Amino acid sequence: MPRSSQTHSSPVIVAALLVSLALTGVLAWQAHQAATSQRKLAEQVLIDYSSLIADEFVRRATAQLGYYGYYDLIGRLQASSRENAAPPSMADLQNGEIRHSSSLASGIVFYDKKTAVLHAQADMDPEMSSRILNALQNMEMAAENMQPFVILSVTENNRHWSYVIATDGSEQKLIAFEVDRGALREWLQPVLNQSQLLPASLVGDEFSNDDLFVSLADPGGHSILKSGGRYDPEMLVRRTLGDDYQGILKDYQLVAGIDPSVASKLVIGGLPQARLPILLMLLLLAVAMVVAAIRQLRRERELMQMRADFVAQISHELRTPLTQIRMFAETLLFNRVRSNDDRQRALEIINRESQRLAHLVENVLQFSRGERDQIHLDMQDRAVVPLIEQLVHEFEPLSGSHSVGVDCMIGRGTTVRVDGDALKQVLLNLLDNAIKYGPARQHIRIALERRESKVIVAVEDQGPGIPATDREKIWGGYYRLPREQSRAIAGTGIGLAVVRELVTLHGGRCWVEDGSAGGARFVVELPLKEGDRMTKTGAGSAIEPTGVTE
Ligand code: ADP
Repeated sequence: MPRSSQTHSSPVIVAALLVSLALTGVLAWQAHQAATSQRKLAEQVLIDYSSLIADEFVRRATAQLGYYGYYDLIGRLQASSRENAAPPSMADLQNGEIRHSSSLASGIVFYDKKTAVLHAQADMDPEMSSRILNALQNMEMAAENMQPFVILSVTENNRHWSYVIATDGSEQKLIAFEVDRGALREWLQPVLNQSQLLPASLVGDEFSNDDLFVSLADPGGHSILKSGGRYDPEMLVRRTLGDDYQGILKDYQLVAGIDPSVASKLVIGGLPQARLPILLMLLLLAVAMVVAAIRQLRRERELMQMRADFVAQISHELRTPLTQIRMFAETLLFNRVRSNDDRQRALEIINRESQRLAHLVENVLQFSRGERDQIHLDMQDRAVVPLIEQLVHEFEPLSGSHSVGVDCMIGRGTTVRVDGDALKQVLLNLLDNAIKYGPARQHIRIALERRESKVIVAVEDQGPGIPATDREKIWGGYYRLPREQSRAIAGTGIGLAVVRELVTLHGGRCWVEDGSAGGARFVVELPLKEGDRMTKTGAGSAIEPTGVTE
């Protein structure tokens, strides 16, 4: 693809990615809104059901207490009042016919309106009788309208009393009893034990009162009844009871709710889970992917740029030796040489430049094969020392004013399994770099040594070295140190990538470190041939420093 079209398409792709990210954000927001309103709807349904529970509880509780309790007891006390001047004792009540509803009274009085005399049951606490008298005097004005009884509630100092008051039918006497709050629980418990509070036609049979929460407290805030069901405080219905059934539970506080875990029985699909965390995670993932895509795009742009630079650089690199070759070939061809020495020099230059050209072309070929995973090696067992010596010898025409020495600290017989041409290319690339980037007339050293089951080949120059931050980048291909731009040293940035590719294919490693003389020390580590690994390090390794081209 032409570079310019690639450059132009990048902002479009970035814009498209950002727009799709924004769309993902909008979708996530919409999904969140939908989930929130769905949850609110489901919660409202549960609150409505809780209201139903509260209504049904009030209906049953007032009926239970009013009809079977207060109404029954008042009726029996009216009968007793017609026969006796004083109310029956508690013991009489316990034993008599009116035993069950009597449990609701903690004190009973008959009050003669004419004489304003209070007749209390024999065993009644005087404090209670004076409290009842007080209550009756407050009630006197309304006594004519009492049908069939009225409830008087008194709350003082956070304590609450209830009185049930009625006439004896003759309008002469008032009958009253104080409600035993302790007995209310026993009286109201059956309301929860009876059939389910929610209509079966609505919720089916699977539902039970154990799935409900109901709590009743008197106006003083004391708990009268509490069911054991679980509840969500956000979805409770709170009621202050009113005039139901003569107002027998007037001002009592009722709280009703539904166990959220059984919500699915009431609302299709149950209470929707909060979606926000998962939506945020998905959004974050989308952001991360867009960032990754943009970074990848940027890297590809950089790579395109590097490739374009590479093409320009390689053309330049090819032209220089070609020009030299053509010039000196023409000199020879047209017999423009003045002496045999000139002829010899021209031939040497042609030879050197054609070698340089061949080396360059070989590098490009190898690099492109490496990129396509098409490098094939012809592996053979080779003695390292003679192989290196031969390579250094072949390098002589290119080494110019520089000297290359080999420090050999391994036996001549030490063998590695390598492709000779590949190893030659590795070494030539390292030597070529040492010469290119090092100072004139420097001394380049090749050190051969053995470390455990590896052979180390290190090329050390006296040049500027490689900054620590760039020591990994230089092996990546197309990469040249920034300083090369100002130094105008020719290069294509692929030599070390070829070195790493070939060394890795040999099962070895390569890296660069500080040289002992301040320059760079490029190290290639190759595995020893299988049999040679058994030989103990050092044993049998003759230390034979050899100066090859010095
Ligand atoms: P090229 O030499 O063609 O630019 P390489 O892949 O061989 O490409 O090297 C990559 C970069 O590493 C070089 O551009 C140079 O900046 C740096 N480099 C390589 N060898 C040396 C060395 N011996 N001394 C200093 N810098 C070096």
